[in-house]
Amino acid sequence: MKYVPDDFEPSIWANIEPYVNDLLKRELSCSSCLETLISDSSNLAEHISETGALLYIAMTCDTENKENKSAFLDFVENIRPKLSEFSDQLNRRIVEHPAVNDLPGRYDLMIRGIKSDIQIFRVENIPLGVKQTKLVTKAQGITGGMTVEFEGREMTFPEMRVFLESNDRIKRESAWKSMVKRWMENSEDLSEIFDELIAIRHQIAKNAGFESYTNYMFKAMHRFDYSIEDCLTFHKSIEEVCMPILNKINIERKNAFGLDQLSPWDVNEKSGSGPDIDGKESLKPFETVDEMVTKLSQLFHNMSNDLGDKFDKLVEMDTLDLETRKGKAPGGYQYYLEKSRIPFIFMNAAGLQGDLETMVHESGHAFHSLYCGHLDLIDERDYPIEFAEVAAMSMELLTQPEWDIFYDELDEADRARITHLEGVVFLLPWIATIDAFQHWIYANPEHTRDERKKQWISLRERFGSKMDWEGHDNFRELSWQQQGHLFGVPFYYVEYGIAQLGALQLWQTHRGDPKKALENYSNAMKLGNTKTLPDLFAAAELKLGFDEDHLYSLINEVETAMSEIKN
Ligand SMILES: [Zn+2]
Repeated sequence: MKYVPDDFEPSIWANIEPYVNDLLKRELSCSSCLETLISDSSNLAEHISETGALLYIAMTCDTENKENKSAFLDFVENIRPKLSEFSDQLNRRIVEHPAVNDLPGRYDLMIRGIKSDIQIFRVENIPLGVKQTKLVTKAQGITGGMTVEFEGREMTFPEMRVFLESNDRIKRESAWKSMVKRWMENSEDLSEIFDELIAIRHQIAKNAGFESYTNYMFKAMHRFDYSIEDCLTFHKSIEEVCMPILNKINIERKNAFGLDQLSPWDVNEKSGSGPDIDGKESLKPFETVDEMVTKLSQLFHNMSNDLGDKFDKLVEMDTLDLETRKGKAPGGYQYYLEKSRIPFIFMNAAGLQGDLETMVHESGHAFHSLYCGHLDLIDERDYPIEFAEVAAMSMELLTQPEWDIFYDELDEADRARITHLEGVVFLLPWIATIDAFQHWIYANPEHTRDERKKQWISLRERFGSKMDWEGHDNFRELSWQQQGHLFGVPFYYVEYGIAQLGALQLWQTHRGDPKKALENYSNAMKLGNTKTLPDLFAAAELKLGFDEDHLYSLINEVETAMSEIKN
């Protein structure tokens, strides 16, 4: 029998409290009592996690619904702080119990995480955490609410994307400039919020006995298997390996457009996307969401029956909210419902190639969740983010050979493939920029805004496209503000780079032996969070390394694939 009944309603603290009291006070005298305690608390956590997920999903599916928003905020402000105090007490109860050393090996990783959580937990940091969340929400409110008047219509920033890829350069320029002008109206507010966030974060680290927030966060994010130095090595490798290719792509583009220099409205700094160099219309892989879903089912069945069946299961369970509509939050995500063990996918499909890639990416996350859904404890299914992104990013690459399903003309699928591979080359330097920027910020928490601008510019010189910024320096110095992770999820970014290393290796295998690559994929995903990050990489026959030679072998293959498509 389950510890918590199926119809349990954990959005009210009074309902949770009896369970919390039982878990913290029950006697633990028998030999298997500790295991029962862990299993019961996992069961409670499943319910609470699913409720948090459903509240978040409801809010993002309809941001104009005030009730949804206040229900979610109530959960964040009134339930989560109490839960973090409870978790700490429960954690201590587990590791301080004499029987902890007799627990079977399956609990080793969990205990490692618990010990790290105990080390950084401080009650006085809870209100600082809430303050942090409120500042982040404020920043999101500012950026999410930005609109511009363009061509006689009020447009959101995501809606403006289409003009930034227009073949009409004058239109692109004026779209870009109107967005920048709008951004600058709030840039001072955003800098202020960011200053406050840095101060709070530094304080949190100091309260927990750390010299810097960086060291604190490496513990908090359970980065046990790579170090600050590894990140710095990775930045250097990216600079050496990716920058020459990025520059080459930009020169081709500049020449094709007949320009002396590219301007910021000719190429997206982060994704490398821009208008087609031959002046062709943008790619349209599907018209309706139904069409996308039907074709994706076919695509995954072509790859393997296992993936095809898993994708069909997602459709059957009807937990997809895919089409874009007014009032829906931007972006895409997969959220696993821990109690029901069902993945939910959210996105804003509008018929673009990027939408197809997002759906494939989120499907990868959902496959990962389904592969390890059989594991008993919530902790065993809580796969590390670095590996979650391997599951998702590798699907983007592995599905490439099947993209023809979405295009009548052969050359259109090829264009999509090339753009995506170029995106791989562009994204890594952007990841290095964001990660290196954060390492600098939290190593120097006392910096001035001027020093911050200088640091950002020097990183963009190192990792950015060479472009003519004349007249737009004031925006360039603050363009980091557009990367929401810096506000909302500090230090969370290098994960995408680490995952891309894994994804590219799976793709490398897939190019020679598709069956083998998919076997490696499922073998590793089934493990969930029951192995360390290096062991998960090893289970998929991948190497976890940040050195230049390793990165070179992967990016070299990307270049080879691009030239194969072109010739
Ligand atoms: Zn992802």
